Amino acid sequence: MKKKKLVLVGNGMAGVRCIEEIFKIDPEAFEITIFGSEPHPNYNRILLSTVLQGDTSIEDITLNEWDWYKQNDIQLFTGETVVKINKDRKQVYTDQERIVEYDELILATGSLPFMLPLPGADKEGVTAFRDIQDCQTMIDSAQNYKKAVVIGGGLLGLEAARGLLNLGMEVDVVHIFDYLMERQLDPTASKMLQKN
Ligand SMILES: Cc1cc2nc3c(=O)[nH]c(=O)nc-3n(C[C@H](O)[C@H](O)[C@H](O)COP(=O)(O)OP(=O)(O)OC[C@H]3O[C@@H](n4cnc5c(N)ncnc54)[C@H](O)[C@@H]3O)c2cc1C
Repeated sequence: MKKKKLVLVGNGMAGVRCIEEIFKIDPEAFEITIFGSEPHPNYNRILLSTVLQGDTSIEDITLNEWDWYKQNDIQLFTGETVVKINKDRKQVYTDQERIVEYDELILATGSLPFMLPLPGADKEGVTAFRDIQDCQTMIDSAQNYKKAVVIGGGLLGLEAARGLLNLGMEVDVVHIFDYLMERQLDPTASKMLQKN
């Protein structure tokens, strides 16, 4: 019987885990194609902070090596973004003018960080903290610059600040709330983060 065509848009943790679960049910059910905008195989985004802090390398946080895709006959397109879906024709279109047909389509495109709409937000040296490229930007910047400002004193902001400190930078954290990590902590617990 001809296999159904499954296209996954988003080569991240949720999407690839979904493919792994499909394999557990029936590894032969689909001919699979995966598109990922990032030029990497699936990696553990949660551990990016440890890469920034210098504890691990990008290789260490890879969840599915390039070989995994080959071994499972997955057609993988990295560094390629799906820009259009035609539901009537059951086709996806990419920024590299590729057109791929599907019977089933999974969208697991994650989320984008909110960049403050401020003048200068598009300047060199301003970055979000979401992917390997952002980590690399911070690591490279630390080699050329001394001072960093982190906007946001939530979990990720503080993890970024820790990483930048480890990279030898002087770091200021600017937070909109009157105490840090207000989504996780109450004021008393937050105060315990202070040195004295
Ligand atoms: C530094 C950091 C620390 C975190 N720590 C924690 C934690 O401790 N606990 C926790 O629960 N969560 C944590 N998170 C959040 C967690 O990483 C995300 O919830 C998780 O990665 C979401 O997985 P996902 O597969 O839905 O999306 P993503 O991991 O964002 O993957 C989606 C992928 O799809 C790609 N994509 C998007 N659009 C397209 C397109 N049109 N075509 C092709 N590809 C596309 C993206 O480039 C991306 O690679 C953290 C996040 C960060 C950045």
